[in-house]
Amino acid sequence: MQLLNRRTFLELSGAAGAAVLASTPARAGGHSAAEVFTADPQGGLVDSTVILGEDKAVLVDAQMNVPNAMRLADVIAATGRDLETVFITHMHPDHNLGLAVIMDRFPNARPVTHAALQPVIAGALQPMLDGMSAGAPAGVFADRVVVPEALNADHILLEGERIDVLDPMHGDTDLISALHVPALDTLIASDFVYADTFAWTAENTTAERVALWVESLDKLEAIGASTVIPGHRIESSPNDATGFAQTRAYLAQWVEALEQAGSADELRALMQVGNESRGMGFALDMAVGAVYPG
Ligand SMILES: [Zn+2]
Repeated sequence: MQLLNRRTFLELSGAAGAAVLASTPARAGGHSAAEVFTADPQGGLVDSTVILGEDKAVLVDAQMNVPNAMRLADVIAATGRDLETVFITHMHPDHNLGLAVIMDRFPNARPVTHAALQPVIAGALQPMLDGMSAGAPAGVFADRVVVPEALNADHILLEGERIDVLDPMHGDTDLISALHVPALDTLIASDFVYADTFAWTAENTTAERVALWVESLDKLEAIGASTVIPGHRIESSPNDATGFAQTRAYLAQWVEALEQAGSADELRALMQVGNESRGMGFALDMAVGAVYPG
């Protein structure tokens, strides 16, 4: 009963323009909707999730560019909660580079990541920021990186409620930590799951590596969470387990296209079939470029 009571105080909250998790069931005496913050296309359509306690909050992933990180910070401020923890799921810039903006707004928050990921992120951030800000107008990217600390636990506590930090597995990159929030029947799937966008497959250009990603999808789906928050989405994407099947189908198409294509143009054309309305076209361009450099 304690858990049931605690559910009353937990919700996922979001911003204007964020996707509403219509699939989240109503909870007795509690909140009936959960939301996430989704970046605009310039910000890579990346999801950040704010998990709310009664007085405190946990943020999962910190956005990429300053405009989206500022909007996310506004969302958090509007909840009235103290931001206690920021968890980073993996080393990619779209989940990290906005962390400086978040920390400027919420200096008492503790930025953390899985202990196995921490050295990877620590080594990657500054070169990523240097590379991405080089060609960008001033103000698009933060002027410094914030390196999250290693979390030496398999969970985060939010007002006594567990948020399970899953050991890193292979997704769109080698190490990603998803989060499971049992009290919300929610999996924050990060970049294991893509909804209605092209997936970042530039680091998965062989069938063997894609198979590892699919293995991870199987393990995550077996958790059985009814709400599944993808790493990237378009506004109308559902937050449910259909993201698993959709990601598997996309990856199967990718593997088949890798086998069939004899050129960059052929690979791109094969991947565009049936995917005309997906967001994040740059992810396909980068993936094609990884297979056919130059
Ligand atoms: Zn991402």
